[in-house]
Amino acid sequence: MTLPHGTVETPVFMPVGTQGTVKAIPQHLLEALDVRILLGNTYHLYLRPGHEAIRRMGGLHRFMSWDRAILTDSGGFQVFSLSELRKVTEDGVAFRSHIDGSSHFFSPEHSMDVQIALGSDIAMAFDECTEYPADYARARASLDMTLRWAKRSKDHFEAHKHDRPWGPEPDEQTPNLFGIVQGGMFADLRRESAERLVEMDFPGYAIGGLSVGEPRELTREMIAATLPLLPADKPRYVMGVGYPDEIAEYARMGVDMMDCVLPTRAARHGLLFTSEGRLNIKNRQFAEDQRPADPNCGCLVCSRYTRAYLRHLMQAQEPLSAVLNTLHNLAFYLETMRRVRDEIAVEKAGQSAPQTA
Ligand SMILES: [Zn+2]
Repeated sequence: MTLPHGTVETPVFMPVGTQGTVKAIPQHLLEALDVRILLGNTYHLYLRPGHEAIRRMGGLHRFMSWDRAILTDSGGFQVFSLSELRKVTEDGVAFRSHIDGSSHFFSPEHSMDVQIALGSDIAMAFDECTEYPADYARARASLDMTLRWAKRSKDHFEAHKHDRPWGPEPDEQTPNLFGIVQGGMFADLRRESAERLVEMDFPGYAIGGLSVGEPRELTREMIAATLPLLPADKPRYVMGVGYPDEIAEYARMGVDMMDCVLPTRAARHGLLFTSEGRLNIKNRQFAEDQRPADPNCGCLVCSRYTRAYLRHLMQAQEPLSAVLNTLHNLAFYLETMRRVRDEIAVEKAGQSAPQTA
């Protein structure tokens, strides 16, 4: 993907930087990990420090000193999952802040204005994330509203996407708006949602409403049912997944982009993902273990620190614990995607090589 802030090789895993920071990891270390794109949360940044403040600071890139690409979500998911007393109408969602109880209103147009103020490379259409379980009628109604909101998002985004006081983007690339497929756990609704979104012609498409509590097999089934209906020459993004083996599996199916709080959140709880499976670094068995977290990982943490030390930091509740655990988990996720990209490159080379047998 060629974006205003650089080129991103796909399939790609995007670390989540909820509050303008990937928790515990400073930006120069994200660069050392070769992170090319990260995710910012519109809902959180809108509430604190506020999108107008960020606009005055020159956009989110300048505010957080990050020159590489940023994708922002629409705020919809957090409005539905975090805020209190929300009221959904055709016009949008009224809600109260989870921080101070103040009243707010998000519409497709307002979500676009916030994302434009943040200056994201990829903005997401405002959608309703259909809850799980939802019956057919509920999923149908939710999907219809999301499609009407997608149209409104696109119209507003196209009219205002250059309203950025800090001037043209570095290489004058246009910011992008992606549409989001909904439809609950019903393959025919997913199909209809995908087809109607493709008619609206977005530069990329996301599959939303997954990883909301449904069994893993169903997640896979919905992705498999939806992917072939989305143009293969445009980015296809599955939101909010998953475990390392899942992201590798989905990438092999043709998913180009994924994001998840799992590697960062789990790290802060002492759960490390390794080539030998999951490791709970708090366990007593690691108290004097001289090996690195993952003997097959070449990351900054594994090349320097022992399991015994990582366990000690966790036990002593030292802030460095979150830093090192998160660094390793992110390195492991990024390496997982790099390996899939290499596999795909080898496959392609094999397909284009002359037949010798
Ligand atoms: Zn490592």
